[in-house]
Formats: sequence, C-alpha cells, structure tokens
Amino acid sequence: MTNTLFDALMGAHQGDTRPVLIRPDGTQISYDGLYRLSGRLANMLAAQGVEPGDRVAVQAGKSPEAMALYLATVRAGAVFLPLNPAYTPAEIAYFIGDAEPALVVCDPARAGQRDDFMPSGTRLLTLGADGGGSLTEAAKGHPEEHRPCARKGRDLAAILYTSGTTGRSKGAMLSHDNLLSNARVLVDEWRFTPDDVLLHALPIFHTHGLFVASNVVMLSGGAMIWLAKFDLDEVIRLLPRATAMMGVPTFYTRLLDRPDFDRDLVAGMRLFTSGSAPLLAETHRAFEERTGHRILERYGMTETSMSTSNPYEGDRRAGTVGLPLPGVELRITAGGKPVAAGEIGMIEVRGQNVFRGYWRMPEKTAEELTDDGWFTTGDLGQVDGDGYVTIVGRDKDLIISGGFNIYPKEVEEEIDRLPGVLESAVIGLPHPDLGEGVVAVVARRPGAHIEPEAILAGLEGRLARFKQPRQVLVVEALPRNAMGKVQKAALRAEHAGLFA
Ligand code: ATP
Ligand code: MG
Repeated sequence: MTNTLFDALMGAHQGDTRPVLIRPDGTQISYDGLYRLSGRLANMLAAQGVEPGDRVAVQAGKSPEAMALYLATVRAGAVFLPLNPAYTPAEIAYFIGDAEPALVVCDPARAGQRDDFMPSGTRLLTLGADGGGSLTEAAKGHPEEHRPCARKGRDLAAILYTSGTTGRSKGAMLSHDNLLSNARVLVDEWRFTPDDVLLHALPIFHTHGLFVASNVVMLSGGAMIWLAKFDLDEVIRLLPRATAMMGVPTFYTRLLDRPDFDRDLVAGMRLFTSGSAPLLAETHRAFEERTGHRILERYGMTETSMSTSNPYEGDRRAGTVGLPLPGVELRITAGGKPVAAGEIGMIEVRGQNVFRGYWRMPEKTAEELTDDGWFTTGDLGQVDGDGYVTIVGRDKDLIISGGFNIYPKEVEEEIDRLPGVLESAVIGLPHPDLGEGVVAVVARRPGAHIEPEAILAGLEGRLARFKQPRQVLVVEALPRNAMGKVQKAALRAEHAGLFA
C-alpha cells in the first residue's frame, strides 16, 4: 500500500534525526519528530471521524503543528484545505459552505465566533499559533504509529482556494501526482539537497509557501527556518544561517530598503527565488548590484503549481519568468488559436502539474480546461525566440479604450521610470465615450512630491496617445494582499465613478 505524496515527502525520513523545522530561537524539530507527530495527528483525525476523501479545513497561524497537520491530513488520505487567517467569519462561511469539510480547525480566538461560520454538526477544533488548543489536547491520547492510508496519484491531496484577485476564490483540486511531480521537478531544477536551509517566511495557506517551499525542502531532505511571518529584522538576523530563500517581490523591495542588507549578509546564500506577483526588472537589477545575486523568477498559480522558471545555470532574465519547466507544455493563443512567435496572447499550459478541476464548478472547469488537458491561465504573455516567457498582465486587466487594446504593464513601466514614482497600477474605468478610460494610480517614493501633470508630461512622446492615462491619481501606497499582489479589482471598484 502506498500513499503517493506522503511516502515521497516523509516515508524516507522515519528515524531521521536531522532537523526539518528550525524555530527562530534555534530549537529544532527533526524529520523523525515531524513524522511521529503526523502519525499521532492522523490517528486523531480518524478518531474525529475524518475519512479518506474528506476535507480538513484549517485556518490557523503558521506553526510547526500546522505543518504537521498538513502532513497528517495527507497521511490519513484526507484533503487538506488551508485558509488565510485574515479571512473574516463571513468569508470563511463561504469556504466552509462550499467545501463541506468533515473537520474545521481554527485559532482559539475564532472559536467564539463559530456560529458565524460553522454549519451545525461540523466538527471544530482549535490550534493556536503557539501549538496550543483543543486539537493538541485531542491528539494527546493517540499513538504515533500510523499506517499511511493508501492513496493513488490521481486522488486529491488538497483543495486550495485561489487568491481571489480577479473575483471570487475558486477551489482548485490538486492530486497527489500534481503536487509530487511539481516538487520533483523543482528540486531538480533549483538544485535542492539535504544541505539546504531555506529561510521560510511565506504563509502556508498559499501554494507558494505550502507546496513550492515546503514540499520541495521535505522532498530534498533539507531544513527550513520557520518564521511565523516576514519580519524584516528577523529575516536580516537569520539570513546568514540560510542557503536559500523563496519570496514574493515585496520581500525583496523591503530588504533593499535596509542599508544593512548587503553582500556580506548573504555570503552563504546560493539561491533567491521570486514569484506570486511580478518582480520589477529594476528590483532585479538593484538586488544584483547590492548582493551579487540574480533573483530567479518563476511563474505559477494555484491551479498549476509552477509552470515556468528562469534557469539555475544560465541566463536569469530580468522581467521574464523564464522557460517552461520540464514536463510542462506552454503555448500562447488568441481566440483559441496559437499566435505567431513573439505575439501577445493567452498563456495556456499542459502537464502533470495541471490541477483536476475546480471544486464543484463543472462549467468553470469545462471553460478553462480542455479535454486534451490545456488549461487557460487567464494571464497574457509572449514567448521570445529563445523560449523565455514574459507575462504582460492578466486577461481581466486588459484595457480596451476606444477599441484599442492597452496592456497596463507597458504603461506602468513607463510611469515607474519617472522621478518620485515608487510604483504604479494602470486600470481601465467605465467611460461614456471610450468604453474604458485609462487611469494611472501612482504611489510616490517616501518624501517625494508628485504632480499628476508631471506624470502626463513624462509620458508624452514615450507612449502613443491612446495609451496615455486620462487621469492620474497619486496615492501613498497601492493596495496589496498577503502575497504582494496588487488588488486592481479593488482599485477599479473604488474609483468606478471617475468618468461618470
Ligand atoms: P484568482 O484566480 O482568484 O483571481 P490569483 O490568480 O491571484 O487569484 P493565485 O493562484 O494565488 O491567485 O495567483 C496566480 C497568479 O499570480 C498568476 O495567474 C499570475 O497572474 C500571478 N503570478 C504568479 N507568479 C507571477 C510572476 N512571476 N509574475 C507575474 N505574475 C505572477
Ligand atoms: Mg487565478
């Protein structure tokens, strides 16, 4: 009997006394310790009535116990369903109503609000950021010995809800094979070994921190410095003990803001990766200038795990997301047909990494996943002569003004070069004549002063007239979610009436 994902991640580590999780205070949890804890928790899950195929919804802080709970759920043959701790009770109620989990695990502070989000009859346990709560209590009497439940490659290991950047979050059904195949490819491509120590500061309710980071490290037998969140001082303090870090672009811009972030501090590092949101080419260059490291940018999404990556050896090109990973096919289409080389179109991917469909959304699944396995990502991009993929933005953010297509990224790049500009978001808002009018929301650098007229003047001669913003709004900061994604839908809603 085999459990595809669990056996691959943890099977070989039984009795292995090397560390897998290192707390910021230096105390460690060994692979064997995590293996045994996951066995105890798997027995507890069964005692709670969780059966193979059942969902276990977890909205908890990032603790070693939360990691063990992920492994225990997979070990028990159930389906792990992590939820962002920032979600409100109303939001959780949607996810729980949709996923119908057998068990919900939440922070003790949330348990008092259970009537706001729990259907009666569903079981609830609590898990605090310190590992305390009724879940740990319930696990106490259970043995550590547990025979992993048989699970085939096609069985589900997790349902991960998408970030909700473009609309309501959708549950992506991910199989054991989806997750394992991707982790294997990344271990290989990014050269992870048992000697690696990953500085893990990402949340574990999202594919980046949970699967890309944790699965890759466990598969390779390395260790993770387990930070509850991205705390700049802690990251600076702990970087010298690490060999690798995976981050979202804001991690890198925030590190670059610190004068004590320098070459010496990262002398022992071999790899920095970036994803979940676009890394500005300027950040890439500034990072190399400061540290001597070229950030390796990759591209993926909840539904596909990772699809492309810049090469470990070879040219890591700023502003691109690199080449399709081994086993991943990628094509660019318009109106469903492949476009000519170099043209912009919809990015589609196919491979073992591509998910099994959206949970309880057969129509949506049929729309985005063809019978022959191609998945429509919703991202627009182009492939250059060497096969490097560049993302130009999301299909839903494309602006159509007066019948012309405008790619926000092209306009944003021009604005970002102007003095005093930190970053920008270009959006289309309803316009009585044009359909949509181009609007630039511009965040200034700390202390800088920006006049909208100066922005407009700076674009003169650089961009065709129809691409130039009709309005420039200067703000302190762009709205971002926990993964550093700019919330354009929120900006569009906020300013919807601008041209009314
Ligand atoms: P929703 O699908 O609910 O609207 P979401 O697409 O933001 O939310 P995720 O699956 O977390 O949810 O994010 C995947 C998206 O993140 C990709 O489709 C892409 O737009 C963006 N992304 C990921 N990596 C990169 C990258 N390196 N550069 C640019 N965009 C990226
Ligand atoms: Mg998406």
